[in-house]
Amino acid sequence: MYQATAQSVREGLVERWNDTYAHFHKENPKQAYYLSMEYLQGRALTNAIGNMGLTGEYSEALRSLGYTLEDVMSVERNAGLGNGGLGRLASCFLDSIATLDLPAWGYGLRYKYGLFKQGVDKATGEQLEYADDWLEVGNPWEVARPQVSYPISFYGKVVNGKWAPGKQVRAVAYDSPIPGYKTRNCISLRMWDAQPSAVEFDLAAFNASDYETSMGPTNLASMLCAVLYPGDGTREGKALRLSQQYMLCSASVQDILARWKERGNSDWSKLHEKVAIQMNDTHPTLAAPELMRILMDDEGLSWDDAWAVTKKTVAYTNHTVMPEALEKWPLDLVEELLPRHMEIIKRIDEEFIASAAKAKAAKAAKKDDKKKDDKKKKESEEEKPAMVRMANLCCISGMAINGVAAIHSEIVKDFTFNDFYKLFPEKFQNKTNGVTPRRWLAFCNPQLSAVITKWVGNDKWVTDTDELRKLAEHATNPELQAEWKAAKLARKKICKDYIKKVTDIDVPIDSMFDIQVKRIHEYKRQFLNILGIIYRYKQMKAMTPEERAKCVPRVCIFGGKAYATYTQAKRIVRLINNVGSVVNNDPEIGDLLKVVFVPDYNVSLAETLIPASELSQHISTAGTEASGTSNMKFQMNGCLIIGTLDGANVEIRECVGDDNFFLFGITDPEVEPARAERAAGKFVPDARFTETLEYVRSGVFGDKFEELLGSLEGNEGFGRGDYFLVGKDFASYLEAQERVDVAYADSMGWTESSIISTAFSGKFNSDRTIDQYAKEIWGIKPCTVPERK
Ligand SMILES: *Cc1c(COP(=O)(O)O)cnc(C)c1O
Repeated sequence: MYQATAQSVREGLVERWNDTYAHFHKENPKQAYYLSMEYLQGRALTNAIGNMGLTGEYSEALRSLGYTLEDVMSVERNAGLGNGGLGRLASCFLDSIATLDLPAWGYGLRYKYGLFKQGVDKATGEQLEYADDWLEVGNPWEVARPQVSYPISFYGKVVNGKWAPGKQVRAVAYDSPIPGYKTRNCISLRMWDAQPSAVEFDLAAFNASDYETSMGPTNLASMLCAVLYPGDGTREGKALRLSQQYMLCSASVQDILARWKERGNSDWSKLHEKVAIQMNDTHPTLAAPELMRILMDDEGLSWDDAWAVTKKTVAYTNHTVMPEALEKWPLDLVEELLPRHMEIIKRIDEEFIASAAKAKAAKAAKKDDKKKDDKKKKESEEEKPAMVRMANLCCISGMAINGVAAIHSEIVKDFTFNDFYKLFPEKFQNKTNGVTPRRWLAFCNPQLSAVITKWVGNDKWVTDTDELRKLAEHATNPELQAEWKAAKLARKKICKDYIKKVTDIDVPIDSMFDIQVKRIHEYKRQFLNILGIIYRYKQMKAMTPEERAKCVPRVCIFGGKAYATYTQAKRIVRLINNVGSVVNNDPEIGDLLKVVFVPDYNVSLAETLIPASELSQHISTAGTEASGTSNMKFQMNGCLIIGTLDGANVEIRECVGDDNFFLFGITDPEVEPARAERAAGKFVPDARFTETLEYVRSGVFGDKFEELLGSLEGNEGFGRGDYFLVGKDFASYLEAQERVDVAYADSMGWTESSIISTAFSGKFNSDRTIDQYAKEIWGIKPCTVPERK
């Protein structure tokens, strides 16, 4: 029934999709292309039906056949071709692009296996990993386009200024339709699959039983799109990962230029008037040298002409300021894999250095500047082997460089790329992230949406989220409050049933639902959360039954995947599960505290958990989370946030007001001094922190977690010295949690804050973000498909 429903929806989309393509072709507008190694699309069925405005019709039709839309949609596999926030951002952006009728497409890779599926070992609490064979049962949303295919070359050498490649595969297009909300526009997400190139197949070798030689290109092709590589700073399988990045860039740039020609354009010096290429982080950096190569070697442009237009065509979004996560590749590796590109990159580098030196000479004589420069120079000279720093290449080639939240974009200018900022301040921009209100409120939370539509007076808020502000006028109205609470309770019930089904834990729905779901990472500090819970548990154990009865009951929910080789993150998962086993089975505690780790966090699970949330935790060390986007999803669903002044939290707090945000922790400028204090051996932790660690060490939770706790000790050394300052922020965190408990006890006050949260979430609509990209970076305008006559 799912397949049949999907086919029927797809049929409805194809007409819009074809019309959109034809309309763009005819209008020949400037078009933007979003290049991303990751997309976290989640399920497509409910979204497509919702965007087409046919939810009622499909529900009705399925009911008449003896099915429910919920059951049918829940069998769809999650397209999980991303690690976390960066990939989900790309998917939200596509929804907004289509909804705003903008001429733009997404490009990605069609990995055979998405991010692993996560389980939990019941006995040990450890994370288990399984391959995610998401295409196993077919994917009704994609259309294979074997006629759209490009050669992708690797290795070889440069002969007379041109590349004579050593190996080749073919990139073949698979397209998925991305419908906009209440519009006929339907754009494409084009994902490349790698196939062996027939030219390369050595039939003679095969016939001579030399299978290794003959199957070489086939193996390379199947490896190229086998798996999504992990983000989050892990660096594995370098050559393969770089090959994947190159395949995305090369296939996409060839395709973009082919379309540009197909639409009748021919003046290369005006390419940027028709094409903008956005690089989602540095993974697609090679798009710049690839464009240069094609323009010079295939189209015959001079270096200067090619460079002049490339610089106006590509733009770069930065997603991390942690220096260890800034991508760089050994120069000799790039040279071996892509010899012609390495020549181009070297020349870009040389010309940049020369122009920067000129700029410096012009300024001259500023003493302290010089000192700093000398230090920098020393650092780069020390780096051996030589590296290609992708972010630098992006800053030099890009027409625009943007961060993803106000505070992050400031850090990008003042620290991460300060040298570049001084040279070309005009390139630097901010584009605070957003999420699509369709998937993350209207469709995932129909209960709350109905209440909103009633009180706002119409459903225009689904696109124009500023309309949500009208809720604020009624925030203390008992009638709205009652409906609001009923909607929340209905979602908590759904969440409770899900938790029971997957973990067999019973959670009370009259408790506060306190949720932290995101990738497990030390900087995101799930560790701080669980240590806070342990402290709470220890306190409760020491209380008399009368005292205990006064506690605010909580259900603490965690979800998130730890990357397979990230040992410390996996230990945090194990600690959470072990704490859960003890706390959840402690008769003295009963329903006062539950600790749940819900396995396999993905888009669909987020759609179940977020509507049920009352408190959510966004507690990264200040200055480490570029933006965060789940904080926005929670806010939209009327959830209050406990958080640090980091990423988009800063702007969320500005929108909801200090009274409706539980702030704690040190701020970004205080982070380095705190680390220095620590290194000097001068930090004295709060007694409650020491006590909590001692409690874990006493073996209450089975294992003593020596290695994990060790990371909070000592003053230096890898994985030691509490780099993410859990100890420093612990006291402030506990105090904020006390304020949460007090606030929750006042049910009317809490509901008012919840309504205010939703009311002022309008800024975090990804339509706003995309509108800014369109106007301030891409220079594209809506190109609305007319109704069929
Ligand atoms: C939104 C989302 C994220 C990003 O969460 P952050 O808390 O911003 O890191 C990660 N994974 C999934 C499945 C999401 O939907």
